[in-house]
Amino acid sequence: MSTQACSMCAVFEDHGANTENMLENVGPCRFNPPVSQLEAASRGLWPVVKSKDRCGHFETEVA
Ligand code: SF4
Repeated sequence: MSTQACSMCAVFEDHGANTENMLENVGPCRFNPPVSQLEAASRGLWPVVKSKDRCGHFETEVA
């Protein structure tokens, strides 16, 4: 079983953000900057990933 999951990644934050609804087992990934929105007055949003997801940028320490 792989131990590489977003929940173990250095840039994962363990809280349901980007929404007024509380979501379980999700959190923002801080690897990239926030994603711009179509409306100029809207703030950028951090990508939200599931705690069991994983991508090729997985790291246990921030460089
Ligand atoms: S999507 Fe990739 S970089 Fe982001 S938290 Fe998950 S493993 Fe880490």
